[in-house]
Amino acid sequence: MALTRRRQWKLWKKFYRSVSKRMKKQTKKQTMINGIAVSPGIAIGKVFCWDSEDYTILRHDISSQQIPLEIVRFEEALIKTRSEILDIQKKIAEKMGVEHAEIFDAHLLVLEDRMMIEEVINKIKKEQVNVEFAFMEILKRYAEIFSKMDDEYLRERLVDIQDVGKRIIRNLLGKQKEGFLELKEPVIIIAANLSPSDTALMQKDNVIAFATDMGGRTSHTAILARSLNIPAVVGLKTITAQVKNGDRVILEGNQGMMIVHPSSATVRKYQREKQKFLDFEKGLSRLKSLPAVTKDNHAVTVAANIEFPEELPSVIAHGAQGIGLYRTEYMYLNRSDLPDEDEHFQAYRKVAEAMKKFPVIIRTMDLGGDKFVSHLDIPSEINPLMGSRAIRFCLARPDIFKTQLRGILRASVYGNLKIMYPMIPGLDELRQANQILHEVKIDLRKKSIPFNEQIDVGIMIEVPSAALIADLLAKEVAFFSIGTNDLIQYSLAVDRINEKIAYLYDPAHPAVLRLIKSVIDIGHTRGIWVGMCGEMASEPLFALLLLGLGLDEFSASAVAIPEIKKIVRSVSFAEAREVANTVMGMSTAGEIHSYTREKLKEFLFREER
Ligand code: PEP
Ligand code: MG
Repeated sequence: MALTRRRQWKLWKKFYRSVSKRMKKQTKKQTMINGIAVSPGIAIGKVFCWDSEDYTILRHDISSQQIPLEIVRFEEALIKTRSEILDIQKKIAEKMGVEHAEIFDAHLLVLEDRMMIEEVINKIKKEQVNVEFAFMEILKRYAEIFSKMDDEYLRERLVDIQDVGKRIIRNLLGKQKEGFLELKEPVIIIAANLSPSDTALMQKDNVIAFATDMGGRTSHTAILARSLNIPAVVGLKTITAQVKNGDRVILEGNQGMMIVHPSSATVRKYQREKQKFLDFEKGLSRLKSLPAVTKDNHAVTVAANIEFPEELPSVIAHGAQGIGLYRTEYMYLNRSDLPDEDEHFQAYRKVAEAMKKFPVIIRTMDLGGDKFVSHLDIPSEINPLMGSRAIRFCLARPDIFKTQLRGILRASVYGNLKIMYPMIPGLDELRQANQILHEVKIDLRKKSIPFNEQIDVGIMIEVPSAALIADLLAKEVAFFSIGTNDLIQYSLAVDRINEKIAYLYDPAHPAVLRLIKSVIDIGHTRGIWVGMCGEMASEPLFALLLLGLGLDEFSASAVAIPEIKKIVRSVSFAEAREVANTVMGMSTAGEIHSYTREKLKEFLFREER
């Protein structure tokens, strides 16, 4: 018997619903993805895919019929870009004044440059290539010409060209840019990669966690996440391909894992885990006002690493006994000009005053590597991590260096400030830096500007050559601070930001441990104290070993401080020394990991003090 139309419709609806339900289930299957844990905490929320604008532009050949279409696309992108810039200009004029809005005149000028437009159109016609590729090639040529200009003002216009260029490319690709500042609700950011300057902007926004395809545990992006207390996982390899805007995910920053489309049961489980983690952190906070002293009264200092003065309340709340590393280069990021002397002075004074009598080690700026500033004249390099960075850059630009040193010296009368140079490979660089400091001091004295004449100057030991000649360096500095992030990268030849070789980046490598031990021993023989401000000092697993090796100061991310204190307080110095002696007799990182883990468990599970 034939089915009635009504019955047919009902059956079809039922069938459709069951299929669509199954499809939904299939596409929303709970998936777990492992990465590298870089900042603890658990976040449950919606995804926001963030485009870092490092677009890969591929060349496509086009047919002669497609040429007019490509030209129209180009013109449309130019019109859209122009209206966007006018819009921004209007908003800035309203909010900040016309003079600030005038900066965008230069952008409009680039956009309306007839020669550039014609060159792109000619390239499309002549080579029969897609407009994005043609435009990118011309843009690169312009950038090259501008970067070589003698006139500083013209050279600085490179930033404008790159800015407008990015905007045009974005419009050609039909992408939309939404900055962190415009986020309307709390989200988990997903990106292929994030630069430290991108991450620095997160501090003011609705970002509850972030995850990236690339990156390693000691990349500056990861370090910042810990400082800003944002749970984060990096090195997830394909996360950007597996989620889209609005997807629900769980980010587990303690284990380094993400769950995409979690089931309700999984969400409930991780809500409980999140609460447990928060309780655990609260429990540790009772240690904040206790000293870091072993059972047999050997005291060490547990200080904090910071990037911004805004972190001070968190640092103090976690019980830091000083600032072991203030990464001042963040003052230079996300802006188009340089900080002046007064800005330096104000920032350092604020930190000095907040930390009262505790020492505050100001590291002179360590720009370069992954902390890149586009408006400074640092030429792009094939290997920036071994290029013109840190002290090398400062010695090449004493004008910029002196401005910072003046700011530090002026602030030195407001607290217990110390100066630390990064990336010192030998005595020449140390002496040159000290000579510049000396000149700045003479100038201040001449002008009767007060500063601490006895200010301590120390260096980071983060280049293997410095570790090997620590005896020579120790004679001319007040302290050493071991920068394991770079020391490991340079001694093991493992790029610290490359997730593909992250498994090779191991602080427990016997070669690294020998370097550390030797620097501590030499420092002590020569009568200076030795600290560590690399991320190894934040890792509970290594705290016993470092204590036993005689490290005087641990400078860690604020969140790690209570746990490091707890470990120090759970042992005697003699026990820690025994652990260190045993470890130094071991020949592989694997053995060292298992042994230190066992020892840590053993001591921590003893009766709590
Ligand atoms: C280091 O290299 O260990 C260090 C603390 O410096 P940064 O991480 O800023 O390079
Ligand atoms: Mg370093």
